[in-house]
Amino acid sequence: MKRLNGIRLPMKRRAQEKQITALPLPKLVRIPMLMHMGDACEPTVKPDEYVYVGQEIGRPVSDAAVPVHASVSGTVSVISEYQMPDGATVPCVEIVPDGQQVIHPDCQPPKIEKKQDLIDAARKSGCVGLGGSGDLTFQKLSRAEKISVLVLNGAECETCLASDLRMMLENPDQILGGAALLQKVLKIKDVRIGVQSNQPAAIRALTDAAESAKGITVCPLPPVYPQGEKRVLVYHTTGIVVPEDKEPEEIGVLVLNVSTCAFLYQYAQTGIPLVERVVTVDGNAVPKACNLLVPIGTPVIDLLLYASCELDLVKQIWCGGAMMGVSYPTFRASVTKPQNGIIALKNPKKERTVGDCIRCGKCMRACPMNLIPAELDRAYEDRDVRMLTDLHAGICMNCGCCTYVCPANRPLAEHIQRAKTLLSNT
Ligand code: SF4
Ligand code: SF4
Repeated sequence: MKRLNGIRLPMKRRAQEKQITALPLPKLVRIPMLMHMGDACEPTVKPDEYVYVGQEIGRPVSDAAVPVHASVSGTVSVISEYQMPDGATVPCVEIVPDGQQVIHPDCQPPKIEKKQDLIDAARKSGCVGLGGSGDLTFQKLSRAEKISVLVLNGAECETCLASDLRMMLENPDQILGGAALLQKVLKIKDVRIGVQSNQPAAIRALTDAAESAKGITVCPLPPVYPQGEKRVLVYHTTGIVVPEDKEPEEIGVLVLNVSTCAFLYQYAQTGIPLVERVVTVDGNAVPKACNLLVPIGTPVIDLLLYASCELDLVKQIWCGGAMMGVSYPTFRASVTKPQNGIIALKNPKKERTVGDCIRCGKCMRACPMNLIPAELDRAYEDRDVRMLTDLHAGICMNCGCCTYVCPANRPLAEHIQRAKTLLSNT
């Protein structure tokens, strides 16, 4: 099988040897009503109301949403506004924990026997893609007519991040438990788990855990970025090419992040919705890189302080990895469901002088989707919609490889994202 292109990133992953540690309960959680791809929820609680862990505090107002739950027991202090990375604001429920972590009595293990039970469970539990995407798991399951292959994403190929890696090392049984549940309910015979070949300990942990399981194969992936993108991952684990106009689940391939799969297993066992997650804390302003298990809504600043970060030195905070993550506008940010990492930097990314294309072809050789970024860049500057369509701008996944390698510092990925918006508006 031909390998897709990509780039070798300087793989600084200081937290990869650090065990997952539970962060002490924060003094306050701020839980935004939008932590998934889709529409914001509406708060269902009021100030001074007592809430339990796992209680619904945000109700979906459309089909493109999942409920939001309290991650701590305690008292609602205020319904405020939360600033998203793009500057927009959404409602936010702030809770002062009582330190007891009392679980809501309605949190009972669900009965999951058929596909619709699984869809209902994924929705009710507030499950979203935990690898950073925030896509709605129940929608993926609903779109799929018949699943023939389950592909679990353990690629985690961005610099710094190690939350999925630690899940694979410390909780392989939960990941395999989730896979077994999906296999049984969806009658899937073939499960592939993609892990980069430079993570032999994770490959070994999953292979050992899968020893007595049927139909599960751990697939080593090339140690280049990106491998976690769904089309790249499906191709490198199964050889299946996902057509440009389709999602993997529409051709019978269900792709889930390993941590999402582990969460589905936990939910099936306990009935406790998605109220906590593992976050890697790293960056050159962080002396003690670590992996922390934290309630959703914990202030980012609490994680940075735990990691001995000198806040005065921080010039920029990234949510997710340095390639595909987003910059936080404020220290008041909270940990959200899809957030796998917090990267605190002393120096923000430097502004680079943009030059003319010298036709070196590096961007083309780096692109995992076999696109021609230099041509797409030109077509975008000409606002040439037909050319953008012919050059398949729609399948660009914004991985940033082209921008990373361009000696002329052209903002290729950014222009191609804008080109996609142009196409969707015409
Ligand atoms: S990498 Fe930059 S300079 Fe080279 S062909 Fe692509 S756009 Fe042009
Ligand atoms: S950002 Fe788009 S065009 Fe650039 S390398 Fe990634 S997929 Fe290719």
